[in-house]
Amino acid sequence: MTLATRIRNRARVEGTVQGVGFRPFVYRLATELGLAGWVLNDERGVLLEAEGSAEAVDAFMRRLPAEAPPLAVVERVLPEPRPPEGGTAFRIVESERAGIPDALVSPDTATCEDCLRELLDPSDRRYRYPFINCTNCGPRFTIVRGVPYDRPLTTMAGFEMCDACRAEYEDPADRRFHAQPNACPACGPSVRLLEPDGRALAMDDPLRAAVVALTDGRIVAVKGVGGYHLACRADSERVVARLRARKHREDKPLALMAPDLEAARSLVELTPDDEELLVARERPILIARRRGDAAVAPSVAPLSPDLGVMLPYAPLHHLLMSDAGTPLVMTSGNVSDEPIAYDDGDALARLAGIADIFLVHDRPIHMRTDDSVVRPTARNPLMIRRSRGYVPASLGLPVAGPPLVACGAQLKNTFCVAKGARAWVGHHIGDLENWETLRSLREGIAHFERLLAVEPQLVVHDLHPDYLSTKEALERDGVEHVGVQHHHAHLAACLAEHGERGRAVGAIFDGTGYGLDGAIWGGELLVGGLTGFERAGLLRPVRLPGGERAIEEPWRMACAWLVAAEADGRRPPGPLARLVDADRWQQVGALAQSGAASPLTTSVGRLIDAVSALCGVRARVNYEGQAAVELESVADRGEPGSYPLPVTDDEPLLLDARPTVLAVVGDLDAGPALVSARFHNALARAAAAACLRIAERAALDTAVLSGGVFQNRLLLERTAELLSAAGLRVLTPVRLPPNDGGVSYGQAAVAAALAAEG
Ligand code: ZN
Ligand code: ZN
Ligand code: FE
Repeated sequence: MTLATRIRNRARVEGTVQGVGFRPFVYRLATELGLAGWVLNDERGVLLEAEGSAEAVDAFMRRLPAEAPPLAVVERVLPEPRPPEGGTAFRIVESERAGIPDALVSPDTATCEDCLRELLDPSDRRYRYPFINCTNCGPRFTIVRGVPYDRPLTTMAGFEMCDACRAEYEDPADRRFHAQPNACPACGPSVRLLEPDGRALAMDDPLRAAVVALTDGRIVAVKGVGGYHLACRADSERVVARLRARKHREDKPLALMAPDLEAARSLVELTPDDEELLVARERPILIARRRGDAAVAPSVAPLSPDLGVMLPYAPLHHLLMSDAGTPLVMTSGNVSDEPIAYDDGDALARLAGIADIFLVHDRPIHMRTDDSVVRPTARNPLMIRRSRGYVPASLGLPVAGPPLVACGAQLKNTFCVAKGARAWVGHHIGDLENWETLRSLREGIAHFERLLAVEPQLVVHDLHPDYLSTKEALERDGVEHVGVQHHHAHLAACLAEHGERGRAVGAIFDGTGYGLDGAIWGGELLVGGLTGFERAGLLRPVRLPGGERAIEEPWRMACAWLVAAEADGRRPPGPLARLVDADRWQQVGALAQSGAASPLTTSVGRLIDAVSALCGVRARVNYEGQAAVELESVADRGEPGSYPLPVTDDEPLLLDARPTVLAVVGDLDAGPALVSARFHNALARAAAAACLRIAERAALDTAVLSGGVFQNRLLLERTAELLSAAGLRVLTPVRLPPNDGGVSYGQAAVAAALAAEG
């Protein structure tokens, strides 16, 4: 073939294309098609040139995005013709990593089918090796210390590859070409079994010994990918109750790990979509309806009709689970609300009082990363916690802005770094209520700034002056500070993830957010876009008697709402009479009446708490959101009835829930299932009616539903149905949680858009 019959293309490939086996894939494809040229990683992704017959080059360009490796996300291929140069060889050119790393490491990924087959193959050199991985699977984000993503900058740096591993690592045709965590029993990490005092137990097979301990009913701390789990058998009430007592966790459900899909099906009701999510490489915890015959101790999820189930995602889990042959409790390794333990010394110190034995390994975890949690709905699965498996995949921003960091909210904190039109939301940090979580936030932000070479010009914060995230943001010198109102951030997050630059009406319902007037907002109907908003409607405010204590004691909100509705407040009505002392009820009623130590709130979360308490479902909570979760779970989904919840014609509109609460009290004899359903229906109708009226006034065709309250499936589905039926386009969060885990991304979207506007 002469040069005249050849063509040459240069192509830039953008997206998640590094650390995912993209270059070897390009090499194999080019070699198969007989093309000459080269491929390299650079700061923007992958750059390549391919030369050969027009037919072969066309086929190459077509197959490039279509057949990319499983972990690659090809966002753009930008081809450009070049003069042919001749030659026959195709080369992988070693990278010179200069400039800004933009194409980041991929998230941690569940063991792939090929590795799983080798893991269970007695003739394979990695038979039963708990750290088997390849370019298509294994730890990534949790082991990366810096960029470029190369072995010396991962927690695998201390392990020198043996000759066999090295040969795989250097062979472009091998599945382990440049797989940074590549290892085998001869050269890689290994597991050990420890006593709680740190003494090693000499064992031939620590994994099997751990399974024996589990079967005997002992609690085993298991070091995983992003942190430690506490594991125990799920079918023994005695064992699970002991774990709960030691962990100081009262009612909050414990997650389960099932050995395989078949076992998961025996625990919960699964649709085909649910099953797809369970086996997806992100391997989240899926919340699904518990089967009546599930062999699970009541203490796993007391008071809940659902179970949180996941499948094994690390080879260590696969071995543990297949040896155990039965579902296990796999809950995060911590005491009550502390962050999950991930550092070995710290884990021993903190978990020694909980675990009877420790299954550990010597591959350090650099970033602690909790399991992610999703909850399917009739629309799309709702992200409840976005962390391991999803982080640090990037999201787009509708309006590009300068480099920035957004510090998020207080509860369920995440942070977000962004530059240009890209944003990276960090792993779940947790509730910023102690030094440990604040330190995680600080370290997480510093890590992301380094990984992504973001030198922030803007640092974005919530308006709440007492949030530790706000204080952290304001402590940064040499940057511009931007405050974003909490519910505006919720609205903007949902708009931005859907690529929306325009305005919409948003029903933003949550527990608590600092309002522009300094009051506690949480039942907001906003009209706005990325750069601004107006408050077009709100839940009629009531008192929060005793402030924070009203969040822990929903019966106080029942009292406050009844005071607001001018009901007879001498004694608690219905089932509450048994749960609350009449004297305390009167004292709290007096607080609500006078307003002493009782700020005003428009929180829909607190209204739901009030109804939950009135029904006798939950008068005092042991974890955030418990009253709402339990009220939703008892609702009779077939019930069409409703209560009055008028939307007044004021400016802004008022959702007046006083008649609703009175109707609830009058209907208590119907029982919690019907009262809950009718109340949810009333709230959905009022929210939809208010959105429609506002949309009409403002000539808008799009509605956003977000805020932590919309983790409530019943409310989300019913409100969305009503809005869609009335012809509005409904946007709800998909890739980020509706709860405060999504706030940092919303802050980033707002700040970027404001900066672009100047
Ligand atoms: Zn693999
Ligand atoms: Zn090796
Ligand atoms: Fe919120």
